[in-house]
Amino acid sequence: MDRRRFLQGATVASGMALAARGTAKAGPSVSTSPPGMLPRVCSTWDFGVPANQAAWKVLSAGGRALDAVEQGVRVPEADLKNHSVGRAGYPDRDGKVTLDASIMDEHGNCGAVAAIEHIAHPISVARRVMERTPHVLLVGDGALQFAIEQGFPREELLTPESDKAWHEWLKTAKYQPQANSEVKTYNAGPGGTPGDASNHDTIGMLAIDAHGNLSGACTTSGMAWKLHGRVGDSPIIGAGLYVDNEVGGATSTGVGEEVIRNVGSFLVVELMRQGRSPEDACREAVERILRRKPGARDVQVGFLAMDKKGNVGAWAIQKGFSYAVCDAKKQDTLIPGKSTYAT
Ligand code: ASP
Repeated sequence: MDRRRFLQGATVASGMALAARGTAKAGPSVSTSPPGMLPRVCSTWDFGVPANQAAWKVLSAGGRALDAVEQGVRVPEADLKNHSVGRAGYPDRDGKVTLDASIMDEHGNCGAVAAIEHIAHPISVARRVMERTPHVLLVGDGALQFAIEQGFPREELLTPESDKAWHEWLKTAKYQPQANSEVKTYNAGPGGTPGDASNHDTIGMLAIDAHGNLSGACTTSGMAWKLHGRVGDSPIIGAGLYVDNEVGGATSTGVGEEVIRNVGSFLVVELMRQGRSPEDACREAVERILRRKPGARDVQVGFLAMDKKGNVGAWAIQKGFSYAVCDAKKQDTLIPGKSTYAT
């Protein structure tokens, strides 16, 4: 066995031993990536701009990518103007706010929660699932029970604004995913106001730290007015999020059912492993969805990917998708969805 494979085996073995004790911890850094323009963080949609800035505080201080993505996506989770992620997310058909989130680190450790209610920061619960249980995914009441046991406050998440929107929707009660959020403008910079998001839109975030290690996070309230119990792609490892520290990471947004059917984020990472650029890999994953189901052309699905060098690319079925990038050069770059941001 060569040294590299031995080290990989050792990392996995020690991770399993720790997980069995309920305290999965990160091992030593396993990456030797060249410094270049690292660190860097990217995330989906206009609301990725303030989220990236929070992640950047961690990365620019030499912190770990895992901490950066958790801190980053907590920003839209807390934003009362954001109706597609976290606390103020629009509810399901029955008026219940149910949230999905996942997180993955440079060692392949991952954790997720699905259809969790009453917890404003599902991403942090997902991290606890990863670090303090031998499991990957907790759902519904079990996820809530675990969160409370871990000290997360139980809260009412349905805001008056979301309640009003739900009652408005009930007048027709027609479930129709919109291609993108209604309002896409984001006034970046200090004091900027995040754009309002409507029917759906997820924050997926990928970061590479100064050691060249990658992590990702993904969090959403899913499709507004969904059936109670519906789970989207975001908490499904390989669908809404995937990270392989040797290759890169990917995340997705849009109609989760289309992403799950094609194991979208895993596919993007595997395409990068075969030598595709992040943008090309995202485009091929989108085209795969459309080849298998041409009707998906009417909905939105977007992929965002970052490779091992920190190159970022994205592709989406429809116009209107955007992603935000933050590095030492610039902290609030916002890029149209079908494009590349290279080192
Ligand atoms: N992907 C999310 C879901 O299907 C929603 C979105 O990103 O628009 O739950």
